[in-house]
Amino acid sequence: MSAIQELETQYSTGIYAKRDLTVVRGEGARLWDEDGKVYIDCIGGMGVASVGHANPKVAKAIAEQAQTLITCHELLYNDRRAQLLEKLAQVTPAGLDRFFLCNSGTEAIEGAIKFARMSTGKSGIVATMRGYHGRTLGSLSATWAPKSDEHFGPLPGGFQHVAYNKLDDLAEKIDDDTAAVLLEIVQGEGGVRPASAEYLQGVQQLCRERDVLLIVDEVQTGFGRTGAFFACEHYGLEPDIMTMAKAIAGGVPMGALAIGPRVQTIHKGTHSSTFGGNPLACAAACAVIDVMQEERLPERAAEVGAYFKEKLEAIDSKKAREVRGLGLLLGVELKTKVGPLLREFMQRGVLVAAAGTTVLRFLPPLVITTDDVDTVVDQVADVLQ
Ligand code: PMP
Repeated sequence: MSAIQELETQYSTGIYAKRDLTVVRGEGARLWDEDGKVYIDCIGGMGVASVGHANPKVAKAIAEQAQTLITCHELLYNDRRAQLLEKLAQVTPAGLDRFFLCNSGTEAIEGAIKFARMSTGKSGIVATMRGYHGRTLGSLSATWAPKSDEHFGPLPGGFQHVAYNKLDDLAEKIDDDTAAVLLEIVQGEGGVRPASAEYLQGVQQLCRERDVLLIVDEVQTGFGRTGAFFACEHYGLEPDIMTMAKAIAGGVPMGALAIGPRVQTIHKGTHSSTFGGNPLACAAACAVIDVMQEERLPERAAEVGAYFKEKLEAIDSKKAREVRGLGLLLGVELKTKVGPLLREFMQRGVLVAAAGTTVLRFLPPLVITTDDVDTVVDQVADVLQ
């Protein structure tokens, strides 16, 4: 263990199962460790570094804003926040034009649950098996985590989980007290599982027929990741509430939820966040959206993602079961556990995430080059031999 690793180990709770790597610098889709070794980063801060590590335009926007104004509570108006809200309204799916700004994905989900309950006067939330929505108590109730009650119970009630990608199951569980259906377009943590277009369109129709709100969690899929600004766009979905975080501000902590016209009743003063909408995060997010548009990163994610997926599919290995994903959110389900392989990839200069215990997950910065993709795929092929 290096001195840095000893310090972190001594003074942190130890709740993370860490890998033996100390990262000190990043650029684009690459990271450097304390000995100067370079890695191709297919973790990307877990889907955060979409515009690339240390993106110069984002760094400049952050530096300028830091010298101008870092904090401004939402009780007051702010120029940078106003600018971001307008940009968000432009890039999010039709109908979504009002936003609540917070600081993480789980916080966006907490807000989404509260807004859905407040607006409908109902309490039930129907989420999905293998769905992931965060680790704070309300989000944890929505997350498919059957054992959480053991350590952290009792969790907030009113949550049910139905089979993902099965409309019949959902139709059965919706009742008079259902406020909202909550799902991801591609389950990320749950194993990189894209839903079918028929299912997603069916869910939207069902929600409208049964007067239930549709909450789409785009925390992992949003901001270009799947090859569109939001994954909703692939299927023409217009959710009533959409949650965002991760890539939104290039790594500066930020979450957001968007609401559409079916969310009407909002009682003033019932929700807030001290840091939410702070000018520093807003400046970073404005720069991220500009970079994504200027460099056409969603389109790039679609193209490079398709190339990456095709190459993964071409790997001939008895250990691989299936390649899944959309854009640059890709997974390879193995017949064995991924744990020991992650270290092997690291030693070969490639950082790969996991989803569950059997899925290799790739969510690199959207600026990754096809040369780097080739290197990653060569290493995957080699390690899976
Ligand atoms: N929703 C989804 C779909 C996620 O993937 C995540 C994080 N992996 C969250 C919510 C929670 O986000 P955070 O870790 O920022 O709380």
